[in-house]
Amino acid sequence: MSQILIIGSANADHVMKFEYLPAAGQTLMSREYRLEHGGKGANQAVACARLAKPDTHIDFICRLGKDSVGDDMLQSWLKDGISAEGITQTSNMSTGTAMIFIGDNGENTIGVAAGANAELLPEDLENYYALFANAQYLLIQLETPLTTVAKALQMAKRLGVTTVLNPAPAKVLGPNYLQWVDIITPNETEAAALTGVEINHLDDAHLAAQLLHQQGVGIVVITLGAKGAYISSPHFTGLVPAINVQAVDTVAAGDTFNGALVVGLSEGMSIDAAVGFANAASAITVTRQGAQRAIPYRHEVPN
Ligand code: ADP
Repeated sequence: MSQILIIGSANADHVMKFEYLPAAGQTLMSREYRLEHGGKGANQAVACARLAKPDTHIDFICRLGKDSVGDDMLQSWLKDGISAEGITQTSNMSTGTAMIFIGDNGENTIGVAAGANAELLPEDLENYYALFANAQYLLIQLETPLTTVAKALQMAKRLGVTTVLNPAPAKVLGPNYLQWVDIITPNETEAAALTGVEINHLDDAHLAAQLLHQQGVGIVVITLGAKGAYISSPHFTGLVPAINVQAVDTVAAGDTFNGALVVGLSEGMSIDAAVGFANAASAITVTRQGAQRAIPYRHEVPN
């Protein structure tokens, strides 16, 4: 049985839409409000659970608040088949929260309260040694404390687990992180933050990938939105084009891509086949509104 371990954030996204964004000191009535289950770690765990074959075990290490949205998230993840072993609800903090204001012209402002996500500390990971030891893949992002990310990558690598870092949101990282990373999956903005190379053409993606290889990363996959994803690896180098769809909401596109990529690799797909599968899954996500609710199930993704 294959086992995938995801570590990361869970956020309640409060989304409000306005004709125009409220200015400082202004109060405006929103046109629309919705509460989405989001957070990069949780979105990626849900993507893995929905896209993996039923015999794959999905573990998710995260921290939620002991509040109603935390309860709802947990119930919904259990329904998707995520194991509860790594999930703790803490009474000290509320579940991570994002306040997202979107204007009619598409511009947005976002405020995030890390809440319980900030309580996932490096020393806590020791309690989950068995989850690391049994995993074939670790998938992790940068929305939890960076010291926790570093410790998780080290623990996994020492145990022979293949480590996949989705370096989102964009941050500048020292080489201490990248030496523990087997596969890295930045989007264009994140690749630029990590390497200083602005990604405008495939040549730029190639150059950024070389800089990441020099820091010890074996496989680089740079996602390029509607263009697809550029792979730099020993077995395949080049662009795998996206599926042509009418996008309505690109929230959770990258998270679906990352979950699908790891699922594909865990089933023994080659890197280019796994990226093709990830492009197909995330193309479905962008045709739907919302975060976790937009992520497809395996039977929806064409072979
Ligand atoms: P992020 O969501 O992290 O910013 P990208 O925008 O690069 O990442 O999108 C991740 C993946 O989602 C892409 O590599 C592609 O497969 C898919 N995708 C994103 N936008 C579209 C789109 N408009 N049409 C089809 N696929 C898309």
